[in-house]
Amino acid sequence: MMWLKGCPRCGGDLYVEYNVGDASVTCLQCGHVLTEAQEAGLKQLQLVR
Ligand SMILES: [Zn+2]
Repeated sequence: MMWLKGCPRCGGDLYVEYNVGDASVTCLQCGHVLTEAQEAGLKQLQLVR
């Protein structure tokens, strides 16, 4: 799953990084890891579309 140009810090592309028992949304360009609140915002955008 990816969000193009969805990074709140640099406007880069986001991807879901899966760890053991966990998943986090990370920016490809700057490495920024989204907070839970920022992830929730992304999921709401996906639902709207
Ligand atoms: Zn970024």
